[in-house]
Amino acid sequence: MKKVKVAFFDFTCCEGCQLQVANMGELLLDVLDKIDVVAFREVMSERSEDYDVAVVEGSITTPHDVERIRNIRAKAKVLIAYGSCATIGGINGMKNNFPLDDIREYVYKDAAKYFETIPTRPLHHVVKVDYSVNGCPVYLPEFVTVLKAALSGIPYNVPDYSVCVECKLNENVCMYERGITCLGPITRAGCNSWCVNNGNICYGCRGMVSNPAEKGQKDVLERYKIPLDWIENKMNMYNKPRELKEMDDIEQER
Ligand code: SF4
Ligand code: SF4
Ligand code: SF4
Repeated sequence: MKKVKVAFFDFTCCEGCQLQVANMGELLLDVLDKIDVVAFREVMSERSEDYDVAVVEGSITTPHDVERIRNIRAKAKVLIAYGSCATIGGINGMKNNFPLDDIREYVYKDAAKYFETIPTRPLHHVVKVDYSVNGCPVYLPEFVTVLKAALSGIPYNVPDYSVCVECKLNENVCMYERGITCLGPITRAGCNSWCVNNGNICYGCRGMVSNPAEKGQKDVLERYKIPLDWIENKMNMYNKPRELKEMDDIEQER
């Protein structure tokens, strides 16, 4: 059987999601006989421009990124947005809360004029995305599920219910019972409540559910006497509402 050619690419990100793949171990065996990895900067020096599936990590933050992701999209039959940076803008989205010139000067000082920048965008604001794997970093069992769906040409829908559902099934003691805020009630499931299982809170890295139960969340805060700004501060990392516009709008601005 002909193997499917898979290429990995990175844009603005920490590359932690690719590292997850490099450390996949036995999980990778599930798909290894069906794919040929033809480009993956973190683990191999060979590189081919001929691929079927592009797995793309990172967000779009420069004009050059826009050109590059469009080229990748033109070559790939299937494009998978891989990790929070790619699916929701991720941590890079915090940049959008400040004037771009201020950000450039802060980072590059006198050399700021040499570094073009645009507001952070998730991939689907610039090109068509076929599959999304949320998370910072990605949850590998979900990535394998998505990759298998992509190889078989069947859809994968990111769960649209809250992390609390998985957390309850895992029988964790709720963080609110300990007076600690957690973004589980408004965050998309699919990670099997990974952080809470390991003694941490949910920071909302998978993005918000489409219909967050705002009233339920407020009731929880009232019941545990937790100020609203504790939640708002935690939302800064991945989910602060941002002026995310489609690429057409950005091009008009330039
Ligand atoms: S989603 Fe998180 S772990 Fe993955 S590349 Fe972005 S910052 Fe790194
Ligand atoms: S709020 Fe957090 S700790 Fe509590 S059930 Fe939801 S995900 Fe679990
Ligand atoms: S528990 Fe929350 S922060 Fe942790 S991986 Fe899941 S969605 Fe992300």
